[in-house]
Amino acid sequence: MELDRWILGHEAPIRLGFFFGTFLVMAVWETLAPRRARRLSRLVRWTNNLGLVFFNSFLLRLIFPAAAVGMALFAAEHGWGLLNHYAVPFWVAAPLAVAALDLVIYLQHVLVHAVPLLWRLHRVHHADPDFDVTTGARFHPLEILLSMLIKFAAIAVLGPPVVAVVVFEVLLNATAMFNHGNVRLPARVDRVLRWLVVTPDMHRVHHSVEDDETNSNFGFNLPWWDRLFGTYRAQPRGGHEGMTIGIRGFTAPREVSWLPGMLWLPMRGPVTGYTINRRQWSDDRG
Ligand SMILES: [Zn+2]
Ligand SMILES: [Zn+2]
Repeated sequence: MELDRWILGHEAPIRLGFFFGTFLVMAVWETLAPRRARRLSRLVRWTNNLGLVFFNSFLLRLIFPAAAVGMALFAAEHGWGLLNHYAVPFWVAAPLAVAALDLVIYLQHVLVHAVPLLWRLHRVHHADPDFDVTTGARFHPLEILLSMLIKFAAIAVLGPPVVAVVVFEVLLNATAMFNHGNVRLPARVDRVLRWLVVTPDMHRVHHSVEDDETNSNFGFNLPWWDRLFGTYRAQPRGGHEGMTIGIRGFTAPREVSWLPGMLWLPMRGPVTGYTINRRQWSDDRG
């Protein structure tokens, strides 16, 4: 409990430290060994994408000051959730909780692709015409708030150890920045690594303009859910250098790359494309 309270008091600096550390490593890596040529300058991308990230962080702190860690501590003190109720030992509960929370994030990601209204919010993440470390945290504020509410619900049901929640949050943040990196990894390394963690080549498939590729590789951290639930796609058809990133019909820089346009993006246009009720089959299929 002492450790839990200390973590709660230092949650922000812990997370910020890992955020800036990972960001720095990825930014240097992207400069030294980029995977694809950038469409927009780093200055424009970083100013707007990071502007959104800082706005979201501020908003979250304002609305949910104790964040997920506070929810976990509350659950622990009140005996809420399966892992608290059954007094599961820490060394079992911690890894189990990290994996379970990751599964929830995977399911949430599938959900925001499948439900037309939620896809409108999630479009902000996909409309980025480039794919780099700043894409990893580029989400509409309403999606960020929705995500936090889902996390609260999951924590209330699961009752994870407080430490596990911090580890999960730091891990998810770091892996999201890693797997959105515009970096080149040797094919052999990627093949092995993607059994353990979602790699940049694996997640880049998810940012393709092609519908079937967009609806693949929903994982952010652990790569197993996609393989288990049948949403895994190894490589993009056009190759990593040849594929187009973004959403068809959303290309005006004012709409997809500048902060005010990004915030307004959910209001734009009809919901078309690849939500669950849009797939069409022709009868003359062989
Ligand atoms: Zn997505
Ligand atoms: Zn992504």
